[in-house]
Formats: sequence, structure tokens, C-alpha cells
Amino acid sequence: MTSGETPKGFGLAIDFGAAAPAADPAVATKVAPSTPTEAKLLILGSGPAGLTAAIYAARAGLAPVVIGGYAPGGQLMLTSEVENFPGFPDGIDGPELMAKMRTQAERFGSIMVDQDVDRVDLSAEPHRVWSAGREFRAEAIIVATGASALWLGLESETRLRGRGVSACATCDGFFFKGQEVVVVGGGDTALEEALFLTRFATKVHLVHRRDTFRASKIMISRVEAHPTIQLHMNREVIEVLGEKSTEAVMLRDTTAGASGAPERLAVGGLFVAIGHKPNTALLGGALPVDAAGYLQLESDSTASQIDGVFIAGDVHDHRYRQAVTAAGDGCRAALDAERWLAERDASRS
Ligand code: NAP
Repeated sequence: MTSGETPKGFGLAIDFGAAAPAADPAVATKVAPSTPTEAKLLILGSGPAGLTAAIYAARAGLAPVVIGGYAPGGQLMLTSEVENFPGFPDGIDGPELMAKMRTQAERFGSIMVDQDVDRVDLSAEPHRVWSAGREFRAEAIIVATGASALWLGLESETRLRGRGVSACATCDGFFFKGQEVVVVGGGDTALEEALFLTRFATKVHLVHRRDTFRASKIMISRVEAHPTIQLHMNREVIEVLGEKSTEAVMLRDTTAGASGAPERLAVGGLFVAIGHKPNTALLGGALPVDAAGYLQLESDSTASQIDGVFIAGDVHDHRYRQAVTAAGDGCRAALDAERWLAERDASRS
């Protein structure tokens, strides 16, 4: 593949089925009147964690209601071909994988609501969740709202996303075999992604806006010693160039002010690794978070500090952040919720 080609699998539009959501929340239809608003189990989020939880809970007869957002499917909807999800030896496109998980969850009786959660009240039972003007009540809740990659905020970055611009080297690095790429960021993620990309790229340009890294010492030593990685300190990406795919980025010296002349760096890919933001705003502080804003688990199970509320996937996991680990987490949360509900029912009878 040359730098002018769009990497295979990028920018695909997969039909998400009859229940495809309206793109604009303002014109989205309200929750169908037939959708039950009283459920044993509500699942918030429809990425791999939420949908795996739905598959397990539905097979256990809990008929979970999944409030999955206006743009259901989570981060994999922005991903190209997924080659590391077990069971797909030839790879599978991220949106297609999510569509399959959804079909599987629906097959066993999960009910999907393609609307955002506006707010929750977990202070008393039943727990209450508001979405698109309706109130849902549930005995148990699984929070699987994921995390969103942070982006630089450039118009050209948005336009070329999926066409050479990515926020996941593990997902997309393979498509840049034989090319030069840029990684932006100075934390552990950026340095880890830069090292990972050396398996494929002929050169990895690591661009960081300051003169010192935020990452751990061991990662810094590895990056500094790597012959394929070139450091660009005190630099920021101010534009991504290319019509149909990424061809270059423009860098600016962050110490030079407005007078500094931008420099052009010819690359086939831009990996933005400036952090993730866990999607917890809808919880309104109902559950404790760590210093980075991720939800905290109560123990080695998926239980939160609130009885009947469980947590799964990237909304609490900033270490692994893989589709398969999120799916595993969703399974654990469904089993925990199912047991919690069964024990409660037994204690009441
Ligand atoms: P992070 O530590 O918050 O680092 C984000 C980096 O991106 C910082 O260097 C920051 O620059 C830079 N940045 C932020 N906004 C930017 C912008 N608009 N333009 C340019 N640069 C920008 O995030 P992270 O690397 O994703 O790590 C998150 C947490 O996960 C950390 O605690 C990390 O240690 C952990 N983690 C651990 C592992 C591991 O143990 N294997 C792997 C990955 C991550 P400044 O430094 O100037 O603020």
C-alpha cells in the first residue's frame, strides 16, 4: 500500500440494521411507546461490554433493556478492520462486529433503545434512568458507557478520520506497513503506540507539545533508544494534509509563537494518542471515580459502591481498553447482576 491509498477497511459505512439511529439527536424519534420502561436489568452503553452483558443477561431470561446512545456501538464503530477479536481469522470490520453482537443480543430478547441517557438517580431502589423524555426503572443496572478518544480538534483531522487518521494503533497500525507515520502525545499511550507502530512503519515520528514526556521512565528510555522513532519535541500538529487520504501533517514549534514557520512532514498516518475521556457525565457524580475520572470498582467483581449497580468496560478500564477485554467485562457484569438479582429474589421469598 502506498501513502496515497486509503488503508483497507477504513471509512466503511455499515448498515446497522432496521433500528439504525437518527444521526442528529434533535431529529431522533422518541423511545417507541411499546418499549418497556420497567426492567429487571438496564444496561447503559452498547459497545462490546454493554452488548456482551446483554447477550448473557438475555440468555438468563432477564430481558435487559439496553440504552445504547444515539450513536450505538461504541468506539469500534470508528474502527477499521478488527483482526484481534477471536473467532474472525480473516478479520472483521468494527461496525460489522458490533452489528453482529447486537443481532445476537436481540435474538435472545434484549430490547434496544438508541437514545442517550440524560441522567440517572441511583440513590434509591428501583434505580431510575431518564432517556429521551422517558423514565426507565430497573432493579439492577450495568454501566458500560465506555470512553471516548480525545482528538486535537482540527477540521482536517475530522475529515480524514478513518482515512489515515486514527486513535488506535493496535486496531489500525497494520495498515501502515512500509509507511511513515506520526504519533501525537507525550503520555504512556502515545509512547506505547509509537513502539507498537515500529513493527509496521518505516519511521515513527513522535510529536509532543512540550520538552518533557509525561510517560513513565521505562517507556521514555525505550522510545529514545529505538532507531525507528524520531522525536519532535515542542511541536504540535496544526493541520493534516490530503484529499482522500492522509499525505502529510503540518507541524508548528510551540516555543516559537506565531512567528515560527510551520514545517511539512510527509506521512501516511496520524495516530492521535492524547488520552481518553471516560463517559461518566450522565452519572452526575453518583459513582466514585479515580484521579483520571474512571469509575472505580468496589472489589474484584464488577460491583460498584451502590447495591445493584455494576460496571463494565472502558468506563473503568484504562489499562487494557480492548474490545475483547470489554466483552469479557460485560460477561462478568451480567453474571454478577444475575446472581445479585437471584439472591435478592430468594431473600424476599
Ligand atoms: P495522559 O497521561 O493524560 O497523556 C496525554 C498526553 O497527551 C500528554 O502528554 C499531553 O501533553 C498530551 N496532550 C493532551 N492534550 C493534547 C493536545 N490537545 N495536543 C497535544 N497533546 C496533547 O494520557 P494517556 O497517555 O492516554 O495515559 C492515561 C493513563 O493510562 C495514564 O495514567 C497512563 O500512565 C496510563 N497508561 C498506562 C499504560 C501501561 O501501564 N502500559 C499504557 C497506557 C496508558 P502534556 O504532557 O503536555 O499535558
